[in-house]
Amino acid sequence: MFKCAAIIFGGLLLLAAGCTSVHEGSEAQPPPQEWSLTNPVNQSALTPPNKNPAVINSRPASTTHLNLPPKQISQPAPILTWTSLDGWAQKNKLNAPRKFSTSPVASYVITSSQGKLILEIGSREATWNGIEINLGFAPEIIDDQVFVYGLDLQKNLEPLLLGEPLVFGANRIIVIDPGHGGANVGTHSVLDGRFEKEFTLDWARRVKPLLETNGWKVFLTRTNDSDIALSNRVIFAEAHHADIFISLHFNSAAPDRIQNGLETYCLTPSGMPSTLTRGYSDLWNDQYPNNSCDAENLQLAVRLQTMLLRVSGEEDRGIRRARFMGVLLRQKRPAVLIEGGYLSNPHEAEKIENPEFRQKLAEAVAAALK
Ligand SMILES: [Zn+2]
Repeated sequence: MFKCAAIIFGGLLLLAAGCTSVHEGSEAQPPPQEWSLTNPVNQSALTPPNKNPAVINSRPASTTHLNLPPKQISQPAPILTWTSLDGWAQKNKLNAPRKFSTSPVASYVITSSQGKLILEIGSREATWNGIEINLGFAPEIIDDQVFVYGLDLQKNLEPLLLGEPLVFGANRIIVIDPGHGGANVGTHSVLDGRFEKEFTLDWARRVKPLLETNGWKVFLTRTNDSDIALSNRVIFAEAHHADIFISLHFNSAAPDRIQNGLETYCLTPSGMPSTLTRGYSDLWNDQYPNNSCDAENLQLAVRLQTMLLRVSGEEDRGIRRARFMGVLLRQKRPAVLIEGGYLSNPHEAEKIENPEFRQKLAEAVAAALK
């Protein structure tokens, strides 16, 4: 059965996976360690003496063949230095990044056979093949060169630019998790009060036959209006030997009626700030079992987000990172959580309440996993 890499266990069990993104993640605190250096003259000045920058090249590109025997590799050591993007591109046989725009902020583009990544100086938001992704730390210009934090190279740039695409094996198994259920109703539609739990279950039921047609063995964590603990949803995935796990939700920003769009979450890699904290503590150095799947989580999220936007025509709210989502933390397989639009936005709620739209969302999930 597929596993991502060595499993590291730790941190607190947090049980929330509700859908009210009221508290957007606060802006990242100043990055640790070398950031306090000013006017570094070269990269060695940014590298602690016990860190060999060549470690960047020693890591194999993440190959992900789901359903193949697990590769017993351990996690590469985290890189906690600022690295010249030019130097990194050169080491990885990519063309040097080039300036993409100067206004409103300077941005740079770096490409590989996998696609195009646009980095904005001073911003954690980046764009991968037209989809917004969120870095751990904002790239900076140091001595006229773009510098990117090492963890971002490992956790974001490498999986996207250098990683092999996800490949799904012959006996592939997926667990789809319709969010909420029973007394845990989730959020509700601003139009008529219908609950999120109803729409997530319907979405999952529509996904199941489509995925089965494509060769997946599909299990739903719930098939009726029952309340299932988040931890039991993880246990369910484990018991069914799931290769991947997808939790389906709809969002709310109530009483705000304007906010709209679709977003996909993965667990925050250790050492980085989250995009969304929703008031929970966000301990950067916590490691959870699912962190062994950081690269695959991101690749899976990108595929889903891309197809969902294409099919639904919704606004892109990006691939985001959170640490508090109880259905993701302890998964030993690539796992993501989709927020398929805002039930607090009247226009979007109207779409979500339309079965044809939910069918489109289901088709997008299936298309992403072909
Ligand atoms: Zn939810």
